[in-house]
Amino acid sequence: MNLLYPDTIVGSLKDIDLTYYWDLGKRGIILDIDNTITPWHQDTIAEGARIFIEEALRMPFQVCLLSNATYKRSAKIARQYNIPYVAMALKPRKKSFKQALGNMKLSAGQVIVIGDQLFTDIWGGNRTGCYTILVTPLDKKEFIWTQMMRGLESLLLRRRK
Ligand SMILES: [Mg+2]
Repeated sequence: MNLLYPDTIVGSLKDIDLTYYWDLGKRGIILDIDNTITPWHQDTIAEGARIFIEEALRMPFQVCLLSNATYKRSAKIARQYNIPYVAMALKPRKKSFKQALGNMKLSAGQVIVIGDQLFTDIWGGNRTGCYTILVTPLDKKEFIWTQMMRGLESLLLRRRK
């Protein structure tokens, strides 16, 4: 069950202190797309996410997108920053997280996984051995299945307290 708990929970990307993680030796960020950097099923990266990605790349963290979205959509978003991506990731499957680590040539201990869902981003990141950060989803409009999972997620997080 511990694999479902993020190392850190933040309200939004701007609450993540990149310098702190850099000083801890983190060098790469695996970033979810839907509801983490774009509103659900949109191709426009949210303003706050742009600021975050640009600051991260400047430090310079490596950033790799990891999404269950299609190749076409993931590529379109990754191209805006010329960063690598892993699409159709079937998160929490470990293989896709390892592929993202391979793209950045970093080990799990050097990488932070950031996403809005416990059962995909956080579970997968923890299984792979990365540091995990749960962010509040950008948008409430989601598939029914995701909504059901959210209900379960909030129960789990409440029980933790
Ligand atoms: Mg997401």
